[in-house]
Amino acid sequence: MTDSWKTRTKLVHQGSRRSQYGEMAEAIFLTQGFAYDSAEQAEARFIKAGEDEFIYARYGNPTTRMFEDRIAALEGTEDAFATASGMAAVNGALTAMLRAGDRVVSARALFGSCLYILEEVLARFGVEVVFVDGADLDQWRAAVTPGTKAVFFESVSNPTLDLVDIRAVCDIAHAAGAVVVVDNVFATPIFSRAVDLGADVVVYSTTKHIDGQGRALGGVICGTKEFIRKVAEPYLKHTGAAMSPFTAWIMLSGMTTLDLRCRAMASTAAEVAQALESATNVSRVIYPGLPGHTQHALAMAQMGTGGTVVTFEVAGGKEGAFRFMNALEIVKISNNLGDAKTIATHPATTTHQRLPPEQKAALGITPGLIRLSLGLEDPADLIADLAQALATV
Ligand SMILES: *Cc1c(COP(=O)(O)O)cnc(C)c1O
Repeated sequence: MTDSWKTRTKLVHQGSRRSQYGEMAEAIFLTQGFAYDSAEQAEARFIKAGEDEFIYARYGNPTTRMFEDRIAALEGTEDAFATASGMAAVNGALTAMLRAGDRVVSARALFGSCLYILEEVLARFGVEVVFVDGADLDQWRAAVTPGTKAVFFESVSNPTLDLVDIRAVCDIAHAAGAVVVVDNVFATPIFSRAVDLGADVVVYSTTKHIDGQGRALGGVICGTKEFIRKVAEPYLKHTGAAMSPFTAWIMLSGMTTLDLRCRAMASTAAEVAQALESATNVSRVIYPGLPGHTQHALAMAQMGTGGTVVTFEVAGGKEGAFRFMNALEIVKISNNLGDAKTIATHPATTTHQRLPPEQKAALGITPGLIRLSLGLEDPADLIADLAQALATV
């Protein structure tokens, strides 16, 4: 029956497990372990744990399992494994399946820590990593040679919002026998069609839209039962990547409003992007929801929206951008995204500070660039705040 539920019903009810008390709110099972009725039962559970049987919280926990079942149902995958952070999910999904000598092809425009895993960590263990321009299918075709083990990309890149054509890249990858891992944070699980479009594994930082209130770090890997339980879980459970039950409880409650929040944020993002196009002291607006964006058609086909983030360039380089940020009254200067509070980030000096100037330039991270994650405030208040801050530049 639950398979036919629509998204909003799944977000409220899917995966709930009730104890003998019949509690309405999902319970937090804040326990590291579980008592067995007998030595024989302990032995049997270590051989094979059933659906409602747990061994140790690093392996699994009832609250965490509720969250995993809910997000898997939403994403349309058979299973999911929740992790302590988005980075534990990205690292786990890749490291669990790779070994020395394997080849990975990745889009170049990545979240800083994702870049670290691909450039530094995997290379250190003898994995060959080749980077391509994610929007250029010819580069993917040339790089994904037969025998390539994995393909990795962010479906919408941070902070310049370049899209990767998920279906086209999956076709190229699958023809070569590669597993496709998509970091889908910017698309959100609400606008995601990554699995329909061919992705094998989808990872999220649940720190972003899924919590949605900036409270807890978390991550999740979604995939087939085979990948999650046979490939990912053995690695994750033995290396200590598990999400805490308390965090899982926060994510479960975050999910009940996820659809409403993502739609409101995306609608506000579209309004703000439009307002910024004609605002003073803005030299460029990047928002895939704008008809003038070069990947507008792909964004609509792939997500049905431009998403919840708008990136734009303030006139006057770093000085202009800083003046603008310091004049903001409602919008906060921070570096999370998908939060109920609208957040302005200056990627060149914060999230992407580590990159050398040439790499920043190649990724389009200019000194005046601002990444704006739209929250749940009234769009008119946000537009007024942005306008008054831009006027000070
Ligand atoms: C935030 C983010 C991550 C990392 O998630 P954490 O929860 O901070 O570990 C990975 N990828 C993308 C695209 C992100 O935005």
